[in-house]
Order: sequence, then structure tokens, then C-alpha cells
Amino acid sequence: MNIHEYQAKQLLKEYGAPVADGAVVLPGDKPEAKAKELPGPLYVVKAQIHAGGRGKGHFKEASAGEKGGVRLAKSPAEAAEFARQMLGATLVTKQTGEAGKVVNRIYIEDGADIETELYLSALVDRGTGRVAFIASTEGGMNIEEVAEETPEKIITVDIDPATGFMPHHARSIAKGLGLAGPQAKDCAKLCATLYRAFIDKDMSMLEINPLIVMKNGALRVLDAKMGFDSNALMRHPDIVSLRDETEEDPFEVRAAEFDLSYVKLDGNIGCMVNGAGLAMSTMDIIKHYGAEPANFLDVGGGATKEKVTEAFKIITSDPAVKGILVNIFGGIMRCDVIAAGVIAAVKDVGLQVPLVVRLEGTNVAEGKKLLSESGLAITPADDLEDAAAKIVKAVQG
Ligand code: GDP
Ligand code: MG
Repeated sequence: MNIHEYQAKQLLKEYGAPVADGAVVLPGDKPEAKAKELPGPLYVVKAQIHAGGRGKGHFKEASAGEKGGVRLAKSPAEAAEFARQMLGATLVTKQTGEAGKVVNRIYIEDGADIETELYLSALVDRGTGRVAFIASTEGGMNIEEVAEETPEKIITVDIDPATGFMPHHARSIAKGLGLAGPQAKDCAKLCATLYRAFIDKDMSMLEINPLIVMKNGALRVLDAKMGFDSNALMRHPDIVSLRDETEEDPFEVRAAEFDLSYVKLDGNIGCMVNGAGLAMSTMDIIKHYGAEPANFLDVGGGATKEKVTEAFKIITSDPAVKGILVNIFGGIMRCDVIAAGVIAAVKDVGLQVPLVVRLEGTNVAEGKKLLSESGLAITPADDLEDAAAKIVKAVQG
């Protein structure tokens, strides 16, 4: 789960990190009054969407102005003008894709005089099983490009969970950022603070790009992107309350309500499978037969008829889906329950695309019987290969 920049900054501020003053502007708010709360004379007006690259992005609507989603204003009146232009407009950045994202919130921040822009992030490194800090002197721009063209300018520092964050970690990071003297000290304090926040809140990633050195020599967190481990959210109601569902895939939001593991993908074959392993092999075999899955969907081990019905509705309401493959191994899950769920869903929402069903395991005979007697246009399949071949052929014609 991700949160907005202004929320991430608020959280970091509570931990004592150097963050500027700022004010959130929602539709209906008076942006000029909000900007006047800030010291000035420079104001930064920032579109709040769950995607980076806003500064270099552009709006779809001409009325939102030519410039990107991060603008410098010289007065509260100008800041308010930018905020009004951006609110409700669609911002397209490298990370949003062509469709872009509608801006529903604006953050107006006290502007900084920048000396240098640095890169600092922390993430859970699955390879080492540790939290790793990543630092580079090349902040502000596309870090992916730096990684590709000048990887020597990026350093990684692993933190041993047994020791926690140590002074030598701080020294390595400061060196990687090209900081010395009092700035290295400030950096050490900041990194220890970030590590504490990261662990406390079960983050999965925290990216500060850029971390800046200001003209007065002080460090400041200028941008913040924060993601949390969704499996740990039950420990953090304060974080859950920051969720902005308008930023999330609507199908994924609905799936989460029914406790289904669903991830939208780019292909056109909708999949309903039980078990993550079987779901992945199903996606593999669809690819093997020359097509692409439209989603990953694991209904879980002990799904009810209602859950199966909901899963089916989520798949069919995706306009990209041109065919559906149901692949269930009945272990704890009984095949007749799956069959009843599929039949109920088809009767409820109709069936506009080919549907192939492969059932195996507990109560398979009862399940197959229910399907064949339902009178619905369901193609049965005997095994995984047969099922994949049939659905790919049905979709590709
Ligand atoms: P992103 O484009 O979505 O990553 O948004 P950022 O918050 O990183 O802002 C993009 C760029 O805007 C930064 O790299 C800075 O160059 C510039 N910027 C942001 N805040 C300030 C500020 O307070 N003062 C100045 N001078 N520039 C800023
Ligand atoms: Mg940034």
C-alpha cells in the first residue's frame, strides 16, 4: 500500500526528519488562504498522485497549463492559481502510463533554495533479507538512468537486523552522498531516523528523491515516496487510514474487500485459480500457448460460493478480458462448490466470452456434472495443457 507525498512527509516530520512546512488543498478549499499560512517568499505547488516524475509530467487539459505537476510560485496568489489549474486535471508522467492520473489533492510547500539534489532510499532487499539503503549523488533525475549508465554512482548499504542502524552505516551513506563535516552528521541523524520509521511502520520502501542540501547548508527531505508491507497493515490502523482508494486499481480494491488475491495484468485471458503456485503455473502455460493472462487471481484454499461468484464478476467486468480460464484443484476446496459458484456468477452477470473450466480433485465428478447439466456454454477441459490450449484457441479464433 502506498500513501501520498504529503502524508509521508507528515509521518517523517513526526519522527523528527527535516521536512518543510506545507498545506494540503482539497477540492472546495481556499488555496490562497492555505498558501498564506506558509512563510514564503517561494511556494512549491505539488500535484499529489501515487506516481513519481510529476515535475517532468504534463497535463492532458490545456487549461491546466503547459508546465508539470510541480511548480514554483512567487506569491500565495500565484500558488493558488496553479493549485486551481491542477485540481481535477489529469497528470501524465513516466510512471502513470498514457492514461495519467486525476489530481484530487494539492500540496503547497514552503520553497527551498537548492544547492544540490541527492538520492536516498531504503527498501527490503529480498536477496539479503535485510533493509538496504541506496544512496547516490545523482538525485532529482531518473535514478533508473543513473543505474544503467553510471552504476558506480550508486551505493548500497545493508543493515544487519541484529545490530540495527550503526554509525558505520551512516558514514558509508554520507560518503556515497558526497557529504562531509556537519552535513555528514545531519545525514547520519536523518538515516537513523528513517531506519526507525521504516522498521516501526513496516515499510516496504521509502524513497527520498531528491534529498537536498540547501543554500544555507541544511538538509531537507524534498520528495518522499512511501510503501508499506500489506501483510503488516493490521498492525497499523494509522497507516490504513491514509489509504486513498482513488489511486488504486478499482478491481484490486474490490478483490481486497472479498479477501481475494488479485493483480491486474496486460493480457486478455482472465484466470480464476486456487493457490498462488497453481495461479502462476496457469499464467505460464497460457504464455506457453502464445497468449497473455489478464490477471493473477487466487481465490484461496477455502473459498465459498460467494467468493467464487465475486471473483468471476471481477474478471468479467474487465473489458480487456476476451476469454476466461477457471483452473481449480479441489483439495480443501471442493470442485462442486466451485462449479456452483461459476454457474451462479454466469447466471447473474451473463457470459459474453468463451469460458474453459478445468476441475480436478475433491468432488470432481459432482462438479463436472453440475457444469454439464447447467446448460451454459462452458467448455470442459481435462488437464492444464488441454485447458490452456482450448482457451487460447477460443480467444485467438
Ligand atoms: P517528482 O517530479 O514527482 O519526483 O517531484 P519532486 O518533488 O521530486 O520535484 C521535482 C523537482 O522539482 C525537484 O527535483 C526539484 O528540482 C524541484 N523542486 C521541488 N521542490 C522545490 C523547492 O522547494 N525549491 C526548488 N527550487 N525546487 C524544487
Ligand atoms: Mg522526486
